[in-house]
Amino acid sequence: MSGPIVLSGTQLAAELNAHTAARAAALPFAPTLATVLVGDDPGSATYVAMKRRRCSNHGLDSRFVHLPAETTTVELIRVLTGLAADGGVHGILLQHPLPPQVDERAAFDAIPVTKDVDGTSSAAFAAAALGRTGHRSCTPAGIVRLLDHYGVTLESADVTVVGRSAILGKPLAAMLIQRDATVTVCHSRTRDLAAHTRRADVLIAAAGRAGLITADMVRPGAVIVDAGFTPGDVTPGAAARARAASPVPGGVGPMTIAVLLSQTVDAAEASAG
Ligand code: NAP
Repeated sequence: MSGPIVLSGTQLAAELNAHTAARAAALPFAPTLATVLVGDDPGSATYVAMKRRRCSNHGLDSRFVHLPAETTTVELIRVLTGLAADGGVHGILLQHPLPPQVDERAAFDAIPVTKDVDGTSSAAFAAAALGRTGHRSCTPAGIVRLLDHYGVTLESADVTVVGRSAILGKPLAAMLIQRDATVTVCHSRTRDLAAHTRRADVLIAAAGRAGLITADMVRPGAVIVDAGFTPGDVTPGAAARARAASPVPGGVGPMTIAVLLSQTVDAAEASAG
């Protein structure tokens, strides 16, 4: 018996990255992404390094701004404002999460929409929710691209999103509503999580809780996307009941970075007129 179709982010991201590299090469300058890391969280440092490596592999330049863990909101906003005014920077990525003393929303909103290639500002969220043009939050946009690529119908589908963070669950729900899905958003206070996951045609796990989604929580034949980092939010038993499932690693992760690079080139092209 064959298993579920693999929603391969690795494969789709490679195609998107090749297209992004060709667009970057056609510009008279290298599109440049500024990456801002506050503090010394090893996980965040690894993600920033990975994003910078992907930039360099695909003809983009990147700049790295590393600020101390005790940076204040005012200091961080000053740095972001400087990058916003710098004509040599086309996109700005502020690595999440930020230390607790920083007003994260104020910091994200200090990035102008034209350079908000990670789609984390309130304006980017509003644009996604209203179906207006603009950069999208990268992980949700990567998930929607993955589903579209594999021909998963969103119109009129019952989609359950587990997680409601500002960078993932909420913008994803907004984008899915724009695509005419019927969306249920679950979170840590949801009373009966399994009741909501079980009726989903498309189940998107974005809670960051390893093994949260077990086999009894999945409708046989559903499509599952697992946004969690290794080993993933979805158990192998739950994935096995699906018609199609994204792997971890090799699913959502590569798509997130591919969208980031693509949106950086969008911003560079826009700056070139
Ligand atoms: P987050 O800010 O910690 O949010 C987690 C969300 O999950 C919250 O809304 C939380 O509910 C909900 N949640 C936690 N435990 C739950 C439970 N037992 N039942 C139902 N909901 C629960 O995390 P995030 O930044 O959105 O990231 C979520 C996951 O995606 C993490 O594994 C993260 O590493 C991964 N991620 C992957 C990529 C990628 O590129 N692959 C990018 C971004 C994030 P409350 O709101 O009630 O607290």
